[in-house]
Parts: sequence; C-alpha cells; structure tokens
Amino acid sequence: MNPRRISKPIQIGTVTIGGGAPIVVQSMTNTDTRDVISTIRQIKELEEAGCEVIRVAVPDKQAAEAISAIKKGIAIPLIADIHFDYRLALASLKAGADGLRLNPGNIGDPERVKAVVLAARARQVPIRIGVNAGSLPKTTNPKLSIARRMVAAALEQINLLESLDFDLIKVSLKAFDVPTTIEAYQDIATKIPYPLHIGITEAGLPRTGVIRSAVGIGTLLHLGIGDTIRVSLTAHPREEVFAAYEILKSLNLRQHGPILVSCPSCGRTEVDIIKLAEAVEKELMKITRPIKVAVMGCVVNGPGEAKDADVGIACGKGRGILFKKGEKIGVVAEKDFLTALMREVERF
Ligand code: SF4
Repeated sequence: MNPRRISKPIQIGTVTIGGGAPIVVQSMTNTDTRDVISTIRQIKELEEAGCEVIRVAVPDKQAAEAISAIKKGIAIPLIADIHFDYRLALASLKAGADGLRLNPGNIGDPERVKAVVLAARARQVPIRIGVNAGSLPKTTNPKLSIARRMVAAALEQINLLESLDFDLIKVSLKAFDVPTTIEAYQDIATKIPYPLHIGITEAGLPRTGVIRSAVGIGTLLHLGIGDTIRVSLTAHPREEVFAAYEILKSLNLRQHGPILVSCPSCGRTEVDIIKLAEAVEKELMKITRPIKVAVMGCVVNGPGEAKDADVGIACGKGRGILFKKGEKIGVVAEKDFLTALMREVERF
C-alpha cells in the first residue's frame, strides 16, 4: 500500500479532514431537509451507525433556514449541498452550516462564487469544490478527456478561491466510470495540497454499487489518496455508512465494529453454514467494538483457516468446536452454535 498523501488539514466543525487524520466517513440524508424532525431522526440513526459528517440537500431557502434547527438536534457536523443558487449558500452559512459543497459547473458567475467565498471566509467555514463528470462547466476544453476536464474545472475554481485569500478547500472529482474517477484523482493529487473527498457517483443499488464503490474508493485509498469518503448508493444512507467502513476495514485503515470471517462452504460442509453466518452477522450488528469472529464450515480445516480470528466456531455434523485465536476452547451441540458463539463474543 502506498503511503498516504498528507494534505492540508481543514476543520468541518469538530472533525478534522486531511493532514493525516483518520479517513472520515460521511453520508447524505435523503429526507426532505425542510422536514426538520425526519431529517434529525435520520441523522441520529446515521450517527449511531458511525457517520462522522452529514450533508443535506439545500434546494430552497426554507431548506437553508432549516439547518439551524437541524443542527440543534444532532451531534455531527453538517455540510450544506448547494446547486445553482449561490444565495442558498449564503443562507446556509447564516443558518450555521459547518461546510459547503458547491458544484462549479452550475453556480456560474465568478462574482456569485466570490460572494459565497467571502461569507465562508468570515466564518472560517470550508468549501468543497465538488466536480461531477455529468455537469462540467462549458469553460473546460471539450477535446480533453473527461478526467482532465474534471481536473481543469476544479483547478479553475481553486484559483478563484485562492485569489480571494481562501484556502479552506476540499475537492472531489466524481464520475460513475471508475477508471475516469481514479485518473482524475491521481492527477489532482499531485497538483494541489488540499484534502480530497473521494467516491464514485451514482454507483447504483447496493448489490452493484457497493462493488463499484469498493473498487474505485479502495483503489484510490490503496494509492494513498483520499481524506474522507462517501459511498453513494440507491439505498437508505445507513447502507452507505456500513459500506464505507467495510472498505476502510478491508484496507486496515479504520477499525469499526466487528469483522465477520465466514468460509464459503464446500463439499466438506455438513451444516447450513450460510444460515448460521447470517444469524451471526445479525447479532454482531448490535456490537460496536472491534472483534474478528469466524464461522467455519468444518472441524478439520476451520480453526486453522481462521486462526487470526479472535473468536470462532468450526461446525461439523451435530457438534462444533469453539476456538479463540486458533486454540480450541470447547465443543458445543449443533442446536447451541449461535448462542455459544455469541457468549464467547460477549466474554472476549
Ligand atoms: S472451512 Fe472447511 S467447509 Fe469451509 S471452505 Fe474450508 S474446508 Fe470447506
């Protein structure tokens, strides 16, 4: 794995992004931001799942004004997502947003961007320049590749912000196409000092979207690129938070909750290992501390194959072997597999 690119840190409320800080997990609500109660309820649920920064859509003035009430009901920093109308960015800042996301492709007039930057500078609120492949500004050269045009669009905005003596900048360059996204981030990572928000946009439903995101985000993280991640899924945002942590955990970049190791099962399996692994996964969702739990399908190879698990069970016909760090600690009857394993997990 490449060493992490150390970026210039920024503060989104109480959360540091960049500068070698842990990679921050963020998500976006899908409630109507004007509906303060539903939005707070969803953000609280995401906080519980481990979300560290939340973004809300600000489609109109009422949504911008709702930010101050929403902030009173939540514990994590809030970013206002602005498209088209710079006045909504100004209203969101006034309402107490901890960060702004602007799409340079649709804010338009640099004078409007300037008004937002000056207000953000006065409050020391960072701005994410969020470039999307699908909405590139007309000023970029159409003869260049999409990745190059995304970088050019970001650099144009960065220059504008820097010319206004503003450097609380974060950048994202998102596309649906994974190689395009990787190329764009690799390019900009060498050109600017600012932290990068990484993700694959409109990745799809969880089954395919999680894979696209894991490949794109995982590749970038492995290259040392990325300070905060958002997995975009057509699903409840708690699925995004769950997927984000699984990506970070799989690269040993963050620890969050349990890791379930389960064997694929094979011709040696004599019990319903899929059913047991699903039941264990459900139980583990109630646990927040890091622990590696193994569910293996045979008593012969199971303990050896999962010897780096903290606690595990290797299941044979009618009985299973409980093990801790690869060492056998007991034998249990088939009907007790789940309860005996979870008892050991609790004890660990
Ligand atoms: S642990 Fe046993 S049952 Fe599971 S895949 Fe390996 S050999 Fe097969």
